[in-house]
Amino acid sequence: MVAIDGSKFKAVNNRDKNFTVNFTVAKVAKRIEQVEASIARYLAALDRADRQDNDVAEARTSRLKEKIKGLRRQMQALKDMGQQVEAAPDQQISLTDPDARSMATSGKGTGLVGNNVQMAVEAEHHLIVAHEVTNVGNDRTQLLAMGQHARDGMACEELTVLADRGSYNGDEVLACEGSGVLPYVPKTLTSGNTKRGLFTGQDFIYDAEQDHYTCPAGQHLTKGKVRSDRRDNIDHYRNLTACSSCALKPRCTPDTHKRVKALAA
Ligand code: SF4
Repeated sequence: MVAIDGSKFKAVNNRDKNFTVNFTVAKVAKRIEQVEASIARYLAALDRADRQDNDVAEARTSRLKEKIKGLRRQMQALKDMGQQVEAAPDQQISLTDPDARSMATSGKGTGLVGNNVQMAVEAEHHLIVAHEVTNVGNDRTQLLAMGQHARDGMACEELTVLADRGSYNGDEVLACEGSGVLPYVPKTLTSGNTKRGLFTGQDFIYDAEQDHYTCPAGQHLTKGKVRSDRRDNIDHYRNLTACSSCALKPRCTPDTHKRVKALAA
């Protein structure tokens, strides 16, 4: 059995040396605006210097011309970079570490330019049995490849692979079928209830034998009428008496009682 997870490793590449298409378009537009304003200012100063006919004005004129040249070069370089970024396969360029990519991390404002290093750690001795350096910013496409990599590393035919929900991807789980990799990955939480601080479907445990759900308060929600939406018949499980006096109700439902919906058999 192994556990797989990814970790974001910061590259030497500074954020200023990483260009993504959105960032670059905005940055180029803003910078060009600033550069054009500076050029207009210098041109006006040049006109004034031209009207004064002395050595100081002449020195000033050549200094201003140099500045304008520099700004135009800068503007051209920005435009070129904008085009290169748009033409890059993943519309991103890192100048120092070409393989490094801009990646989001869980903490707000803690994104980095780096690599996503995948590791498989075996459950008994906690040794790393496989690793891979990727530049994909998430773990959703790593399950099968890392599972097989770890299975080869441990020289076994079948391997149980544990991963957190960051690795969940239906296609990857399906692809593990018949590969010798047996994945255990929790599904991604897509319910809006999580954001609202309410219980989600995972907090209600189904008992197939009794055909009821047990809620976080330990009450049983039993099957009521089957209802139909446009496509399917849906079973509604509820408890018509417990919810009204339940201390957990504010975290459970704004309705008079909680209903758990499940596709009818
Ligand atoms: S409100 Fe109802 S379903 Fe929700 S926790 Fe309480 S008893 Fe259970």
